[in-house]
Amino acid sequence: MTPEYDAVIVGAGFGGMGSAIELKRQGVENIAIVEREDDLGGTWHVNHYPGLAVDIASVTYSYSFEPNPYWSRFYAPGRELKKYAEHVADKYDLRRHMTFGEQIQRAEWDEKNSLWRVFSEDGTERTSRFLLTATGFLSQPHFPDIPGIKSFEGKVIHTTAWEDGHDFTDKRVAVIGTGATAVQLIPEIAKQARELTVYQRTPIWVMPKVDFDIPRPVQQLFARVPLTQKAARLANTTLLEIIMVTGVLHFKQFKFGNKGAARAAKAFLRREVPDPELRKKLTPDYDFGCKRPTFSNEYFATFNKPNVHLETSTIERIEADGIVTVDGNKTEIDTLVLATGFDLWDTNFPAFEIRGRDGMDLGKWWRAERFQAYEGITVPKFPNFMTLNSPYSYSGLSYFTTIEGQMKHIARLLTEFKRRRATTFEVTEAANTRFLDDATRRLDSSVFYNGDCATSRSYYFNHAGEATLLRPRSTPGTLREMSTFPLSDYEFAG
Ligand code: NAP
Repeated sequence: MTPEYDAVIVGAGFGGMGSAIELKRQGVENIAIVEREDDLGGTWHVNHYPGLAVDIASVTYSYSFEPNPYWSRFYAPGRELKKYAEHVADKYDLRRHMTFGEQIQRAEWDEKNSLWRVFSEDGTERTSRFLLTATGFLSQPHFPDIPGIKSFEGKVIHTTAWEDGHDFTDKRVAVIGTGATAVQLIPEIAKQARELTVYQRTPIWVMPKVDFDIPRPVQQLFARVPLTQKAARLANTTLLEIIMVTGVLHFKQFKFGNKGAARAAKAFLRREVPDPELRKKLTPDYDFGCKRPTFSNEYFATFNKPNVHLETSTIERIEADGIVTVDGNKTEIDTLVLATGFDLWDTNFPAFEIRGRDGMDLGKWWRAERFQAYEGITVPKFPNFMTLNSPYSYSGLSYFTTIEGQMKHIARLLTEFKRRRATTFEVTEAANTRFLDDATRRLDSSVFYNGDCATSRSYYFNHAGEATLLRPRSTPGTLREMSTFPLSDYEFAG
């Protein structure tokens, strides 16, 4: 039986588009990109709350082969990322492969015909030689299960479902959450709301943001002499790399760097917030790096405003007109903003049911054994399958490092696949175990296992307490491995 498609890619964000570009370079043209949202861009389509911007400088947070000289700021606002995604889709002729508003429900490997059967919620079935999942890490919104939340009669907005132009003027607003999203959003809401109460469970490390407009002549220079933007990218990426390798992967040897960063963040907080009580509440009690830190020049200062209140008592319940904390305090509100982030380990990994050989269920296997994926992309017993957002796949600090490493892996694997005129590839158990053991060993020096992370509630850790998200490798190491892995790590058939 000939499959309908050569490849089905689930997700039309930067990961899905990067893999599609690479497949097309390899001559794979018969591709379906299926996206549950109503347009492309992934995170940058879904998120459009006020204040949204990148927190990895734009020269680095973009495809290296498709630089954009026209970023308006060092850290570009979210809408420019969405425009950039549209530009990439047009330039690489990806739109004609895309279907929107279709949620994939499950996929199963058809052993007899050596193909994937991919089923959507609306009953559509596709057959495909390859299946690639590019469903994102932070793409399943987390709705907190707080008693009474459904009884709230005011407006509820999750940050991933923002209503553009929503007016908070004269409103009493509560924000639950103090992650990177809340840090960007809270100063914006505070400018409008009559009263804003921020419910913080865990404080976040915040550093000042060195951000500025990129003047037009500099943009023109980047456009005319691309080498200048390449140099800027290299300088910025090198800095990020040093932070990643010393502060995250080799915390054991370089913890003075993290302690120094924590001291700098505390000094910044002292400068911004005069009230010592408030400062104490905003100060994390876990090591810098356990949880993704963030950058803002406005966040701390916002809490000095008379209309902004920080609530650190645990929420006991939500009533029709307000929030009650365990100390019996009730704050009446009109609008509840949920900046409560994403489910990584419950509903992701994988984002839908995937069954490989012998009906093996990927999600169940990951949870029963350990979260694992060879080179963060393939899994034994799952032939012709690439999972782009998988355990140990996240490399470097910019997501584009992950994407471009995976593009290299796809290129090497498919070149060999074509050379052998194969119909299936499958990573060997031995190669997978070797990679997992190596990753586990390398993580021994990381902040996750040597830092004081107990109170951080960091999404880097799964339910078993293992930090199985980041690939414990430098960026050059990852890129090298992705383009030189032993081909004998795969079995080819057909
Ligand atoms: P997040 O970091 O997971 O933060 C969610 C927040 O909600 C946390 O403060 C969490 O508290 C709180 N929360 C969740 N459930 C709660 C409950 N039942 N009661 C009280 N508080 C609750 O999510 P995020 O802020 O959306 O950011 C996620 C990631 O997205 C970031 O780490 C970053 O990688 C990325 N991001 C990037 C940018 C950017 O600038 N490019 C912007 C936004 C996000 P606990 O900490 O106590 O669990």
